[in-house]
Amino acid sequence: MVDYIGRIYRPPSEARSFLLQVTVGCSHNRCAYCDMYRDKQFRPKPWETIEADIEEAAALGPRFRRVFLCDGDALILPTRKLLRILEAIAERLPWVERVGVYGDTRSVGRKSVEELGALREAGLGIVYHGMESGDDETLRRIDKGGTAQECVSTAHKLRDAGIVHSVMVLLGVGGVERSREHARNTAATLSRMDPPFVGTLTTTVVPNTPLAAMEARGEFTLPPKLDLLQELRDIVAGSDFSACRFSANHASNYLPLRADLPQHKDALVELLDQVLEARDESILKPEALRGL
Ligand code: SF4
Repeated sequence: MVDYIGRIYRPPSEARSFLLQVTVGCSHNRCAYCDMYRDKQFRPKPWETIEADIEEAAALGPRFRRVFLCDGDALILPTRKLLRILEAIAERLPWVERVGVYGDTRSVGRKSVEELGALREAGLGIVYHGMESGDDETLRRIDKGGTAQECVSTAHKLRDAGIVHSVMVLLGVGGVERSREHARNTAATLSRMDPPFVGTLTTTVVPNTPLAAMEARGEFTLPPKLDLLQELRDIVAGSDFSACRFSANHASNYLPLRADLPQHKDALVELLDQVLEARDESILKPEALRGL
């Protein structure tokens, strides 16, 4: 049986991947809105456990084409250990076409382009990066542990290494107070990063998180639905990509969208403007259908 400790998370696009848990928890574990790994003490899993899980996957045969390395920021593992994992995957699961992982400014920042290139050569194809905001003040308030400039450096390093970069943004995470700055600076930072994939999610205030405590103290207020849509509109309108698949189709979003930018930028902005002008919340996804 595959060894899974605690609840396992993965990006929506890794739904069919074999989930290989190589770390437990998140080495940062401080983002104000996140409760995913609060019950887990971060630790790398022993090689013997990982190796046994790869054997379990080999026994399944080619039922999956991708592997996703869990938990929160498995890219934080030393390059040598990651290479060992990727090499074992390549040897024992030769049908695997891509390995993915969560990573951020810390984990990418610790690695040189050469190290990232070696990981790419060994099979690491995509890094999912929860940037959440390109606004430094918002990043500071949510204790994200990185700056907008570091997000830009992360994007450039991954591109130079040939690794696909998928960036996640959290609508509403700046609260009412920084809603406009969050949208404007996120658009500006994304433009400098120019990643091939951007996905937006909508902030949820999860009980027992620092964000919930901030809300209770009156220090954070989630913007109303149409203001969240305004943030989405301003991010799309203010960003400048060379080729980006832009998605707002996560279960948490009120208006599911997917578009290739820049080709569909004008049409997408026009659509969002129409919804905002109509101020008709009935076309937004009902609360009960948001998969949170
Ligand atoms: S880095 Fe990711 S997993 Fe870790 S606390 Fe922040 S949002 Fe949660």
